[in-house]
Amino acid sequence: MKLKDPRLLKTQALIDGQWLDADDGGSIPVVNPADGEVIARVARCQGTETRRAIEAASRAFQDWRSQTAKARSRALRRWFDLIIAHQEDLAVIMTAEQGKPLAESRGEVAYGAAFLEWFAEEAPRVYGDTIPGPAPDKRVVTLKQPVGVVACITPWNFPIAMLTRKVGPALAAGCAVVCKPASATPLSALAIAELAVRADIPAGVVNVLAGDTRAIGGELTANPEVRKLTFTGSTAVGKMLLEQCAATVKRTSMELGGNAPFIVFNDADLDAAVQGALICKFRNAGQTCVCANRILVQSDIHDAFAERLAAAVAALRVGNGMQPETEVGPLIDSKAADSVLGMVEDAVELGAEVLAGGQRAVNGECFVEPTILTGVRSDMRVFREEIFGPVAPLVKFDTDDEAVELANDTEYGLAAYFYSRDIGRVWRMAERLDYGIVGINEGIISNEAAPFGGMKASGIGREGSKYGMDEYLEVKYLCMGGI
Ligand code: NAP
Repeated sequence: MKLKDPRLLKTQALIDGQWLDADDGGSIPVVNPADGEVIARVARCQGTETRRAIEAASRAFQDWRSQTAKARSRALRRWFDLIIAHQEDLAVIMTAEQGKPLAESRGEVAYGAAFLEWFAEEAPRVYGDTIPGPAPDKRVVTLKQPVGVVACITPWNFPIAMLTRKVGPALAAGCAVVCKPASATPLSALAIAELAVRADIPAGVVNVLAGDTRAIGGELTANPEVRKLTFTGSTAVGKMLLEQCAATVKRTSMELGGNAPFIVFNDADLDAAVQGALICKFRNAGQTCVCANRILVQSDIHDAFAERLAAAVAALRVGNGMQPETEVGPLIDSKAADSVLGMVEDAVELGAEVLAGGQRAVNGECFVEPTILTGVRSDMRVFREEIFGPVAPLVKFDTDDEAVELANDTEYGLAAYFYSRDIGRVWRMAERLDYGIVGINEGIISNEAAPFGGMKASGIGREGSKYGMDEYLEVKYLCMGGI
């Protein structure tokens, strides 16, 4: 890994503004999924280091919350500028530990930084209300105040953006944070933490530690000083963390799994739908929570769509993300590849046909060929489960009602997509889909200005946009009498 600024490669934990080893000197390996090489070892923190980070955040919170919104805004802006200035190094670190193609890593660094810029601009716009009182001598006023110390737990698929989407609004609101990045991808989080230090964000406001997952998670959820947990990851872990947070009645935001339908109607612009499906399905090798998980195609155009998608998929270049020509990198580890291939096998056993791919790719243990399955039904695992790999299952349908029924037939409700040129159908479908996000004639829906989040088992709360800040604010009501 060649970096212009090698000091961005941090392997210790950032606690109270200090870079520290684990108390017992332990470490965890960080592996490049493209070639299996150990690229670094990161401090393996436990509960005691976590407690120290929470105490530091608690102290730092008192001063940080009393700074002016403008001062917090400027600090976030400095951090944003530094991330953009180091975009290339951050992209190299991300591709090395996560596997996604370098171009996508550059894109994620910019997307991740955009949350800091957005919330730097939102910081001075946290307004309370004056409400007409219930009696002539009473006045009702609301204040918005930071919730306090926030614990942030993030996944490996977007190691920077999932963190800044939480830390940006938290810091803008006046909160201090303790972050636990995924064990597979701690280096990206630690690198941006180093830039937070350089941006003069005060010691203790941002703490980042990796290590013993259960010990850190246990402390973050049990410690009463932590007033909020914001989590992005699987629904299974999210449910467990919700239970753990119950004892101290923490506020929670949950960005969990998805099972996105991608619906193509007879009247769709077919080329646009194929392009949309390609990017929506195969970006990050299919490892995004908003990936098209089930592609529902209306019968008249099913075969034409399948043929064009197959031609586009055949042209995708699989390889090490560091190679500039690579479009589909490895999955995060070989277990992930085994799991995806297991779902393909299940579908084939139940009667699906492989139109493209279907095998482990020749590039290595963690690679799966971009795959298209046809004849998929709702009893197959690829329909019911989050695939998290480069597999596109095609399901044929006839009517709009059938499309809605198939689309909503899941416990998840994060993102849905559909392609149609009929304005009536566009409105009807948009209203009937039980999803927090609906892409209409569009396969890429994420941006910092829009509210991101799911319904049902996909989560609680919204991130990004003007709504994202509310998650880190308490509304306090002042009742003034005797006026
Ligand atoms: P995961 O296994 O749930 O892990 C997510 C984070 O939780 C990691 O930091 C993980 O740490 C941590 N964790 C796991 N068990 C824990 C415990 N007992 N206590 C405390 N922390 C614990 O999910 P993943 O495999 O990394 O990510 C993929 C999932 O994230 C998918 O389901 C995807 O849909 C979802 N996701 C959702 C969104 C969204 O916005 N809705 C965005 C991206 C991803 P370790 O790494 O140390 O295990």
